[in-house]
Amino acid sequence: FKKIAISKETKDELGQMSLTFNHMIDLLDQNYQKQQRFVSDASHELRTPLTVISSYAKLLKRWGKSKPEVLEEAIEAISSESLRMKGLTKQMLDLANGENSLVNEVEKVDLCQVIAETRKHFNQAYEREIEFEDQTDHSIYVLAEKEKIKQLLFILLENAVKYSEEKIDLMLTTKNKHAQFTVTDYGVGIAHQDKEHIFERFFRVDKARSRETGGSGLGLAIAKSIVNSHSGTIKVESELGVGTTFIVEIPLLERE
Ligand code: ADP
Repeated sequence: FKKIAISKETKDELGQMSLTFNHMIDLLDQNYQKQQRFVSDASHELRTPLTVISSYAKLLKRWGKSKPEVLEEAIEAISSESLRMKGLTKQMLDLANGENSLVNEVEKVDLCQVIAETRKHFNQAYEREIEFEDQTDHSIYVLAEKEKIKQLLFILLENAVKYSEEKIDLMLTTKNKHAQFTVTDYGVGIAHQDKEHIFERFFRVDKARSRETGGSGLGLAIAKSIVNSHSGTIKVESELGVGTTFIVEIPLLERE
């Protein structure tokens, strides 16, 4: 993108317009670069499972008929890597949709109820204890897309499972006209210098560990995009070796 050359005298109308124009060019440029980085990161992430799949396919072609153990190993690897790719493409679509549109079907949502449903589904998927503390004695309503709030909770809870071994605490309260919920784990924690990056797409503190647990580095980017589309905030407090708390705040609709 080409900017307009501006002389030192920028006080006249044309000068001001040029400044605005150049500012817009800067923004476009930043967005373009972000987009480029996303495409290159995404292709890189998709190439890894594809490489595994194609090398096992080659192995199958060569030994599949004569060696049953190769057959079994290859089928196992191919199906798990394709599942991984499926998950990854879904996450990428979620991110793309989340950023291009405002919240779709917003409704009056009771957070206590959403949390109860999510905990139930989560308990079915993972054998991990979630201790829930509801600090309010009434329903907490927000204007939200219910499924997105569930997805957000699931991302934070799944991370707590991946990066800790003990119980997980979930807390709900209200603060300054906002509903606030926190997810706390007592696991590996996040180093100070990594905290500012964890919400970036494809950022992973430990790529090997994250990949082992099925991580792509997109979960928290999706979480942030969901929170943003609900005009909320998400923050992290963490200490290495002690644990991590994610704090989400979403504007309250009303109190009942
Ligand atoms: P991933 O799929 O790798 O978990 P996320 O975007 O969800 O991707 O998280 C980005 C990175 O932030 C993770 O790779 C991990 O290093 C770190 N992280 C996220 N949640 C936690 C947590 N609860 N405890 C420690 N580290 C975490």
